[in-house]
Amino acid sequence: MPKVVHTVAELHKILLPLWRKGESVGFVPTMGALHEGHVSLMRLSRTGGNAMTVVSVFVNPLQFAPGEDYDEYPRDLQGDVKVCRDAGVDVVFAPSVAEMYPRGFVTWADQDKLTEKLCGGNRPGHFRGVLTVVLKLFNIVRPTIAYFGQKDYQQSVIIQRMVTDLNLDLKVQVCPIVREPDGLAMSSRNVYLGPKHRTEALVLHQALERARELVAGGEKSVKKLHGEVKRIIGTAKSAKIDYVAIVHPETLEDVNDVSGRTVIAVAVRFGKTRLIDNVIVE
Ligand code: AMP
Repeated sequence: MPKVVHTVAELHKILLPLWRKGESVGFVPTMGALHEGHVSLMRLSRTGGNAMTVVSVFVNPLQFAPGEDYDEYPRDLQGDVKVCRDAGVDVVFAPSVAEMYPRGFVTWADQDKLTEKLCGGNRPGHFRGVLTVVLKLFNIVRPTIAYFGQKDYQQSVIIQRMVTDLNLDLKVQVCPIVREPDGLAMSSRNVYLGPKHRTEALVLHQALERARELVAGGEKSVKKLHGEVKRIIGTAKSAKIDYVAIVHPETLEDVNDVSGRTVIAVAVRFGKTRLIDNVIVE
């Protein structure tokens, strides 16, 4: 069983000997409701030569705007601890909100430009909340390597940018998207989907796969790719597109054509459930 700790002090007791010896600490930050996507990150940490793997489980209120799903977000610490046990995780850090944000908390991490693009447009303040909690967690865990999923592509870019810009002394490894057998990207939010939306949600992967095929076949036109992705997503009656973006992998700026490594990212709502997915094309 992993050790489950709820305070920074308890966690530091465990980590202090490793820090002293300069041993490698692998870290997987999560919001819990763990699934195979999270497990893939834990496995990479386990097999990546780390002396210890720490998983944090914390639903971060700072990254939810008013009216978003903070209250409904699935929480199951017992189940999460079992998943961590099966994945060979050493420590689960599950702090309370008060532990992370003591009374009087007013200090934030933020970023220009990148945070305003893609999901930043529909979720104002979201990435400020993400950057703040991730920076805090990095300071608390002091990992050697932190593992993030490509599933949240923009988040991975923003965090790597913060690590570079603020000279944070750790490596970030971004890991491939884990999917359900039918192609839907795994997400803790998939439990919100009723049967109809669950079936309709397959259009995300279908649209991105189609775009990938087109690019592999030589298509460079952003307009055509946009059109095709939107058309396929539009075949799902309840799909409401937040964005379809074809962007540079680091700046997240729109590209004029697909000539180098490019990211095609989508965010789509099915009823109240907002899903994201992406593909990297060359
Ligand atoms: P979350 O608990 O949703 O905040 O996600 C925690 C970490 O797991 C983030 O780095 C996510 O990008 C990653 N993650 C979530 N879903 C997947 C997935 N389907 N495949 C790979 N990584 C994922």
